[in-house]
Amino acid sequence: MKHELPKLPYGLDDLAPVISRQTLEFHYGKHHQAYVNNLNNLIVGTKFENSDLETIIHEADGGIFNNGAQIWNHTFYFNTFAPKPKLEPTGKLAEMIIKDFGSLAEFKEKFSKAAATLFGSGWAWLVVDQSGHLEIKQEGNAGNPLKINLTPLITCDVWEHAYYLDYQNRRPDYINSFWGVLDWNIVESRLK
Ligand code: MN
Repeated sequence: MKHELPKLPYGLDDLAPVISRQTLEFHYGKHHQAYVNNLNNLIVGTKFENSDLETIIHEADGGIFNNGAQIWNHTFYFNTFAPKPKLEPTGKLAEMIIKDFGSLAEFKEKFSKAAATLFGSGWAWLVVDQSGHLEIKQEGNAGNPLKINLTPLITCDVWEHAYYLDYQNRRPDYINSFWGVLDWNIVESRLK
């Protein structure tokens, strides 16, 4: 099956100034697209030729895993944002955050620290395990917590290509701004 670049659920100018049009043009238009093109080329003639991305994440390694997971991770990341986001969680997720982290502020501080201190390229994740416990994970490169049966709720891309055009080396400034476009309605909808 041929993998496609999913459409963005907002316009290229809609997340500025947190994430600029220029960043989306490169990050979505070039990097995300490149992972799609690479995967389509790599799977030809392999057992993953007709696999969905979840199967690839669970079973593949090497280039097929890296490109397949990067497609999934970027789609999940881009689909977390909205031009007019809900800025705080409510209901069940809000209760879970208070139970596991003490408060929303403490959660955001811990998540931001995990994103800022991840060495090199990768992703910070908020995940929920099968018993309903929330956890923050750091994953290098294309790492994805689906591989260890955790359900992702939030991810922050800390590859330099995610922030360098807008923030240069100031990764903590990018992470701080990230909360301003993250839509908690979408995050809550990921909680099954
Ligand atoms: Mn990226």
